[in-house]
Amino acid sequence: MSSVLDFYKYLHTIPELGHQEFKTAAFLADRLEKYGFQVTRNIGGSTGIVGIYDSKQPGPTLALRADMDALGSMVDGVVAANHTCGHDAHSSMVLAAAKELLETNAIQKGKLKILFQPAEEIGTGALSMIKAGVIDDVDIILGQHVRPYQETPMGKAAGAVYYSASTRIIAKITGLTAHGARPHLGINAIDAATAAITAVNAIHLDPALSYSAKATRFICDTSVTNVIPDEANVTWDLRAEKNSTMKQLCEFVEKAILAGAATVGATASVAIVNPIPAAEFDQTIIDVLKKSIIATLGENGLQPDIFTPGGEDFNFFKQYKPTIQAGFIGLGCDLKPGLHHPAMHFNLDALPTGVAILVHATKQILG
Ligand SMILES: [Zn+2]
Ligand SMILES: [Zn+2]
Repeated sequence: MSSVLDFYKYLHTIPELGHQEFKTAAFLADRLEKYGFQVTRNIGGSTGIVGIYDSKQPGPTLALRADMDALGSMVDGVVAANHTCGHDAHSSMVLAAAKELLETNAIQKGKLKILFQPAEEIGTGALSMIKAGVIDDVDIILGQHVRPYQETPMGKAAGAVYYSASTRIIAKITGLTAHGARPHLGINAIDAATAAITAVNAIHLDPALSYSAKATRFICDTSVTNVIPDEANVTWDLRAEKNSTMKQLCEFVEKAILAGAATVGATASVAIVNPIPAAEFDQTIIDVLKKSIIATLGENGLQPDIFTPGGEDFNFFKQYKPTIQAGFIGLGCDLKPGLHHPAMHFNLDALPTGVAILVHATKQILG
C-alpha cells in the first residue's frame, strides 16, 4: 500500500466518528513513522496525531492539516459512521504528500508538521489540537477540502475557501403556568417564544453583509393541553460571512430574544453554543496556493475564491493564533450529489491532483 488511492480505499472502509478515530489514527501514525516523521499520538487526550520532520536548517514551520472523522448518520435507528464529507480523502492526500516530500528529500529548510485532527464535524477537533499546543510553533498552516461539483468542477481547484462563521443560540424561555381556563393568571411560554422568533426575524443588519439567523428548533411540551405552558426552548442557527458580522448578529439576536419574551412578561436565558469562526486567510499564502494550482492544473484549472455559508473548524487555528498564516484549498473532484449526502461520491482521479498541489506548495515554502 503506497499510493494515495491505496490510502483512501483503506480509510474509506473504516469510517469512525469524532474522537473515536482509533483505527484511522493508528494507520496514519504508523505510516508517518515509517516514512521518517517523529510521531506523537493521542494529542490532547483524543486521537489527534502530529508528525514532525525537522530539516535542521533555519526556516518556517509549515503544518499540513487534515481531518480524520466520519459523519454520523441514522441508519435503521442506529447512528452509523459514514465518510460523506471526504475527510478520508483529506487524510489520504496529506499522508501521500508527506510521504512524497520525504522520499524526494524536498524539505530543505524549516520544519514540516503533519496534523491529523479528530472531530471536525462536531467542531471540537481543531480545538483539542490547539489546546495541546500543537500550533504554538507553527508559522503557516494549510488545509484542503473536496468541493461539490456545482461549485468547483473536476479539473479545477480554488486557492481559498472562505467558510462562514456559524453558531447556535439556545434560549430557555420561562413564563408562568396557570389553568387553561384562566390564561390571565399565567404567562404563556409559547406566546413568549413566538414573540422572540418574530423579533429575531425582524433584525436587519446592513444588507451588503452576508448573514442569516433563523429558528431551527422549538420545544415546548408540558404533556397536557389544558394548562398554560411555562417553559419553551428555542434554538437559532446563525451564519455570517465575517466574524465581525457574527459578533454584531449575536448581540442583536440576544437582545431580540430577551425583548420578544418580555413583551408578554416572560424571561429568557440565552446561551451561545458551538461557535465556529469564519475563515481569515493571508494573501501571501493564497498566492502560494494559486501558483501550485496553476502548476498542477494549468491556468484554466484555477477556480475563483469560494465563498460558502458552510463552517469548517480549521478556522479556529487562525482565531487562536492570529499570527499564523493560513490557507485552504478547495479541490474540484466531481463530487455528487453533495457533501453530507449519504450517497456522496467523487472522482478518485482528483486525489493525486490534491497531493500534487500540497507537495508543490510545501516545496515553495520549505524547499
Ligand atoms: Zn462535513
Ligand atoms: Zn468536511
